[in-house]
Amino acid sequence: MNEVQRTLPAHKNVALVAHDHKKEQLLEWVAGHAEALKLHHLYATGTTGTMLSRKVGLPVRCLMSGPMGGDQQLGAMIAEGKIDVLIFFWDPLNAVPHDPDVKALLRLATVWNIPVATNVATADMLMNSPQMGRDFAIRIPDYEGYLRERTGG
Ligand code: PGA
Repeated sequence: MNEVQRTLPAHKNVALVAHDHKKEQLLEWVAGHAEALKLHHLYATGTTGTMLSRKVGLPVRCLMSGPMGGDQQLGAMIAEGKIDVLIFFWDPLNAVPHDPDVKALLRLATVWNIPVATNVATADMLMNSPQMGRDFAIRIPDYEGYLRERTGG
């Protein structure tokens, strides 16, 4: 697959998702990084986002609840280049009903090469990176070329 460059902007679209047993951990993490996160645009699945805006008071655009389609909404936004960073505290110790959606979300984040953190240590490193607050070039699939190849155009 050929690649092209995409520039993640200085003010990033950051998606926040936590499974039920991880929600407290994400709330605490967001509270600890609230000043830095204020510089970005926050998106979250329904329950996570509602809890975040109530308890931490940051403006968060809420999608649907994860098991009801929110993970898929985020995946679609990633494919469309509308999400720049994914912070996803998924639960490695408990099964969730929407496991296929979880896999799909992580898969699309990998396909479109956005920075992803699935635990506190990586999320801390990501937020402490100078690249978080400035333009950052990434390589993404050349979708136009991919389509041309498949359609013989
Ligand atoms: P929720 O969804 O924020 O609505 O709980 C998270 C998820 O499980 O994907």
